[in-house]
Amino acid sequence: MIETPMDTATAAAPLPQSRHLATAVPGPRSLQLHAERAEQVSAGFGTVLPVFVDRAEGGILADVDGNRFIDFASGIAVTSVGASNPRVRRRVAAQLERFTHTCFMVTEYDSFTQVCRWLNRHTPGAFDKRTALFSTGAEAVENAVKIARAATGRANVLVFDEAYHGRSLLTMAMTAKVNPYRLNFGPLPAEVVRAASANPLRAPGGGAAGADPAAAALAAVEATLAEHGPESFAAMVVEPIQGEGGFIVPAPGFLSGLRTLADRHGIVLVMDEIQAGMGRTGTLFASEHEGVAGDITLTAKALAGGLPLSAVTGRAELMNAVHTGGLGGTYAGNPLACEAALAVFEEFEDGTLLANARAIEAAAREVLEPLVEQTGVVAQFRGRGAMLALEFADPETLQPRPDLAQSISASCHAQGVLTLTCGTYGNVIRLLPPLVMSEELLRDGLAVLRSAVLDAAQNAAPSDAPA
Ligand SMILES: *Cc1c(COP(=O)(O)O)cnc(C)c1O
Repeated sequence: MIETPMDTATAAAPLPQSRHLATAVPGPRSLQLHAERAEQVSAGFGTVLPVFVDRAEGGILADVDGNRFIDFASGIAVTSVGASNPRVRRRVAAQLERFTHTCFMVTEYDSFTQVCRWLNRHTPGAFDKRTALFSTGAEAVENAVKIARAATGRANVLVFDEAYHGRSLLTMAMTAKVNPYRLNFGPLPAEVVRAASANPLRAPGGGAAGADPAAAALAAVEATLAEHGPESFAAMVVEPIQGEGGFIVPAPGFLSGLRTLADRHGIVLVMDEIQAGMGRTGTLFASEHEGVAGDITLTAKALAGGLPLSAVTGRAELMNAVHTGGLGGTYAGNPLACEAALAVFEEFEDGTLLANARAIEAAAREVLEPLVEQTGVVAQFRGRGAMLALEFADPETLQPRPDLAQSISASCHAQGVLTLTCGTYGNVIRLLPPLVMSEELLRDGLAVLRSAVLDAAQNAAPSDAPA
């Protein structure tokens, strides 16, 4: 391990870990930069909160107008070890002095192997593994499909309702939601087949009392496999907790049922842990909660603490079924990103961050779960560890209320708390705080969110709901 003294990394004073509003949100400088951006940047990029960041540290984002936001986004589950994590900074800075790139397909460096070694050892599944590194999550998903096809000689890929797997041509086809991800971008690859998922709140058949959502969904999955011929499927790709689809924890038994179906039909089970993995849910991998191991496990997002890195880790016989030269990429496993990942692994070593994720869940549950009973607009509080969500819908009819998710999120933003929305209906507010966030900062942000929900519930008669 290379240790560089802290004070060589930066001379700047630490960013105060507290919320602070210096101007309206967005402030004048951000407004000016945003106007300039519109003149230069493709309109295809959306923005959740149009403030320009000057610095970020721990659980705080500071903008160019001097506002400090509590970060409940972590750059979409990326900076789990905290923004500008000191260990990540030190390792990357040291690597920056040595070399920035060789391309691993041209000449080698050991940090690539060491990242693979850690993932082989720590991903679920007590079998011999190999790993391949890439840069983005979508690349990891695409390469898992390539590997499964090469290993099985089959073409079809089974995916699920409310799934999100990326924005590349294949992965957007695997993603369920049309707008914004697929709209206008077809034609899409034909070999992607979608099956039912086991959403406990919106189970198939209307969630009748007493029905087992996992059993119902698994029966539907079997029917879908039978329709296409189970022997036509190379892979089934599933998120252990669905991310963009709404932070949906599948009904207990669903993942293990998929494991059984995959085994029965010789289908490669690919666990997409890109959002839920790397400690986010209080275990290193979210599939551990169900005791289910994919044949292949995918990681990205939090893997390298903010540097672009993704990985496909799987059974050695699958990973080695690809012809030499069949996998790669110019930037795949970039050396700066590998050093960042090794720093992230060190951060997870003593178990503190996993304990923090569980403590974040306990505090958020205490503050937010009562809103289900109190307000009549929150259908569910759900999630695991530091991957938590509120779904806004009529608790009786489940009529989604995206209007409330939007207005509550906007109210949080105006008060210096960065929240994200998600869900097929856009009616879910999700929380993804860095695992290093102090309890004080967390509780300040939760209090802002809670009072924004209470205010919105008071002002919003159910008749305001969109038809
Ligand atoms: C974000 C995400 C991806 C895609 O990752 P990118 O790095 O954006 O390509 C794939 N799967 C899941 C579950 C994700 O959350």
